[in-house]
Amino acid sequence: MTEAPSLPGIASDRPQTVQVLLPLPLARAYTYAVLDGMAPQPGSFVSVPLGPREVRGVVWPGEPPADLKEKKLKAVLQIYDVPPLTPELMQFVDWVSGYTLFAPGAVLRMVMRSGAYLDAPRPQTGFMLGTLPENLNLTPQREKVLAAARGLNFPVAASDLARRAGVSDAVVRSLATSGALQKLETDPDQPFEEPDFRRKGHDLSASQQAAADIIRQQVATKSYAGLLLDGVTGSGKTEVYLEAVAAALQQDRTAQVLVLLPEIALTMPFLKRLTQRFGAMPAHWHSDVGDAGRRRVWRRVADGSARLVVGARSALFLPFQNLRLIIVDEEHEGAYKQNEGVLYQARDMAVARAAQANFPIVLASATPSLETAVNVSLGRYTSVKLESRFGGASMPDVSLIDMREHPPERGEWLSPMLVDAVNENTAKGDQSLLFLNRRGYAPLTICRKCGERLTAPDSDTWLVEHRFSNTLVCHHTGFSMPKPDRCPHCNSKDSLAACGPGVERIAEEAVAKWPEARIAVFSSDTVQTNAAAQALLEKMAAREIDILVATQIAAKGHHFPHLTLVGVVDADLGLAGGDLRAGERTWQVLSQVAGRAGRAEKSGRALLQTYQPEHPVIAGMVTGDRDAFMLAEQEGREMLGFPPFGRLAALLLTGENETQVNDVARALVQAVPQAQGVEVWGPAPAPLYRLRGSYRVRFLVKATRDVSIQNFIRAWTGSVKIPSSVRQTIDIDPYYFL
Ligand SMILES: [Zn+2]
Repeated sequence: MTEAPSLPGIASDRPQTVQVLLPLPLARAYTYAVLDGMAPQPGSFVSVPLGPREVRGVVWPGEPPADLKEKKLKAVLQIYDVPPLTPELMQFVDWVSGYTLFAPGAVLRMVMRSGAYLDAPRPQTGFMLGTLPENLNLTPQREKVLAAARGLNFPVAASDLARRAGVSDAVVRSLATSGALQKLETDPDQPFEEPDFRRKGHDLSASQQAAADIIRQQVATKSYAGLLLDGVTGSGKTEVYLEAVAAALQQDRTAQVLVLLPEIALTMPFLKRLTQRFGAMPAHWHSDVGDAGRRRVWRRVADGSARLVVGARSALFLPFQNLRLIIVDEEHEGAYKQNEGVLYQARDMAVARAAQANFPIVLASATPSLETAVNVSLGRYTSVKLESRFGGASMPDVSLIDMREHPPERGEWLSPMLVDAVNENTAKGDQSLLFLNRRGYAPLTICRKCGERLTAPDSDTWLVEHRFSNTLVCHHTGFSMPKPDRCPHCNSKDSLAACGPGVERIAEEAVAKWPEARIAVFSSDTVQTNAAAQALLEKMAAREIDILVATQIAAKGHHFPHLTLVGVVDADLGLAGGDLRAGERTWQVLSQVAGRAGRAEKSGRALLQTYQPEHPVIAGMVTGDRDAFMLAEQEGREMLGFPPFGRLAALLLTGENETQVNDVARALVQAVPQAQGVEVWGPAPAPLYRLRGSYRVRFLVKATRDVSIQNFIRAWTGSVKIPSSVRQTIDIDPYYFL
């Protein structure tokens, strides 16, 4: 016997129900009853009771469980007046959950961010053009306000209109009194101005034009394609992909475009550039944007009126209505990997989102990741190359300083060869960059009396001396303390010695060597805000700095027109450690930093201090043969079956009780399922075995590409009972092995 379908308005003994996914780490959606008169749609934002609480969530596709106890069902309390999530986005959430093995609710939380965004904000008073009274006294100031008001599509606050017209608020208010402006209650989350895709961009070189044509054609197909825009630093990739942005916006009136950037520090100059290109400030989303600003972006992305969005990796989870194109700039950047909460690689997830929703994605880089390069060679992505630097600038000349033959003076870090080069450069009036990818003054503080290495409390992490602030800081836990004058272990006075150089120590050496020069330090400790970064970049552009001493924060995308010499203090730094991407990452950082030298009409050079000039990464930097380097790297990974030729996942166990953590690890070893093509390594103490009082043990799982590593891990970890005092974290495609 089949059950009669329940029709609207016709009573049925079976209550209407919906599945609701809550932004909590729960394994599945819950079933709720729908009371008469409510019509939640799939994707609708609703509030529901959960125990004693009221929680906001989303109506999710799916059927109630077969054993549903209907009498116990609680009902949906409210539906919010916010456009529902699209089926595409809900599918993406489920997919990310299945891929990363984080609960779907944990992924949904990235979409909803703050539940408070669902509340309509309190209206604000705004002004628009009204009816001009006949006897209106038209002063020049009033004329300016009326002209500005004619260009408005929506009411704006008095202060905003006054700013646009370049007059005081009082002029606006007096026009409102006369009726020439009308006063309206308005949403404080103002819509973003429409980007004007008809505006002409910069003149493109022949090579840029050719690349832009290929990408535009792909965008015109309105279907999925992975494109790698591959161009050396300074080749003008941005202008090329902005053509693709224009093409996508042009497609229909609701098309939305997302540009992902790896670093906040790059955002401001980029937004300026986009504002010039499209005549309107795009919506921007990252941690530096305040809560009100983020609510505005979220709501305007959700209602489809924010059409061009620039953001950090988390912008990928904004509730777009009609996303038609994603650009991932500097796609090789490690910053796309999220290391807290849901662990995901935003570039990879962006490609998945584009493929699922069937639109193109452009990955841009001067030093593509190995994953992307392999996808090109397998024909999964199309490579679009920009061969030369824009405006005829040449690539920097890279040479090595063999530190075994040209060692620095005792207690110093700069080789006489590098010192000579800086002297020469400064004499010409050009700028130099001394690069060391290590924050602080010294990476290690050691007691000369007892040999104690200073670590953060309850952790195996070294304390890094920061001399500017006279503190010892742990870069892993955030712990910091004033630098003591006695050894905390043996109590000897003045026995603590700084070991090794950090960027601040190089700056100290530079000041001693070049007392006349204007020297600045650029690291995340010395330049902490977007505004400070901007100020420093402007000083560089105005030639108010002779020598910049910097970490990799300076290596990314910044344009220094008068910089002609880059000295890399320790080119070998990134090669140590067992990280599978160490060689690739060192190559990328060195190429990026060398690429800062010589733009526009001046040629540049880069000098790399090294103790291992024969290492393939270092030697490859001199020949500049990227393809040869990548091929060697590729062969190495293929031989070992590492990504992208195989799959890799990490399983980390942490807990305050060392015995318990190790017991769970042993139980997991016993439970490893037999599976073809899968290897489990470990347990091994993590490199940072003790962190903030927790003990950390890890496994690595390696599988061939035809195996679902997720299914394997689910089966494996599901078979062992793990006490709640031991935390288990799964990281699919791990990047950091700490
Ligand atoms: Zn001591």
